[in-house]
Amino acid sequence: MRKKIVAGNWKMNKTLVESQALITEIRGIVRDENTNKAEVIVCPTFLALPSASKLLDGSTVKLGAQNCHFEESGAYTGELSASMLKSVGVSHVIIGHSERRQYFHETNEMLAKKTTAAVNQALTVLFCVGETLQERESGSHFDIIKSQISEGLFHLSAKDMSLIVVAYEPVWAIGTGLTASSEQAEEVHAFIRTLLAEKFGEAISEEVSILYGGSVKPDNAAELFSQKNIDGGLIGGAALKARDFFDIIKAIK
Ligand code: PEP
Repeated sequence: MRKKIVAGNWKMNKTLVESQALITEIRGIVRDENTNKAEVIVCPTFLALPSASKLLDGSTVKLGAQNCHFEESGAYTGELSASMLKSVGVSHVIIGHSERRQYFHETNEMLAKKTTAAVNQALTVLFCVGETLQERESGSHFDIIKSQISEGLFHLSAKDMSLIVVAYEPVWAIGTGLTASSEQAEEVHAFIRTLLAEKFGEAISEEVSILYGGSVKPDNAAELFSQKNIDGGLIGGAALKARDFFDIIKAIK
């Protein structure tokens, strides 16, 4: 049975003190009320990671970062390596978010290297893929997803794939209030699983969790999560309020 996962991507939001308050709130709600089997991950800013790690000590809530560099160390001003993340208690890292691809010009080639760096530190990678509105409207979305998956992940070994979670996030649905319909999302999730099966074999592809992201809210989560190939969500805006985030977690069955 593959894992059901709900991860919160806080992006560039929350000061240190605000982050600590939100982590504490989420930790408490998950401890007291989480009866389902979803794995819960929070991804605050780099700045908040060390104290978040301490606050989550003894909790089932896992800690993720939003990015890492592909080198181990060196002259890369402003960057952090996977081993540095690991050293403060991070277990997960988001790689390939569309905002990184778009605003920081991260290419599939760079993302493949970042993925290797993270896997080498035994970090679980939340690897994001997704098409723009223009790509969907022109009908090229399957080709785009295929190149993001093959160029970003196909250099990995079958064993490495146990550290990979894929997040399908149509760019047109991120932070826009537009959500892919459950049919649109399921169609792409099934396609991604087929790509993984062709490369790594059926058994491995069945073990990879594929999350949906893009304006997931408490009122649309259950419908999305009920789809056969949707194993949870990567949540942006709604992850910044503990109650909304938890209501989404509760939608996992
Ligand atoms: C995201 O940025 O990963 C995301 C899915 O954002 P939102 O939920 O706000 O659309």
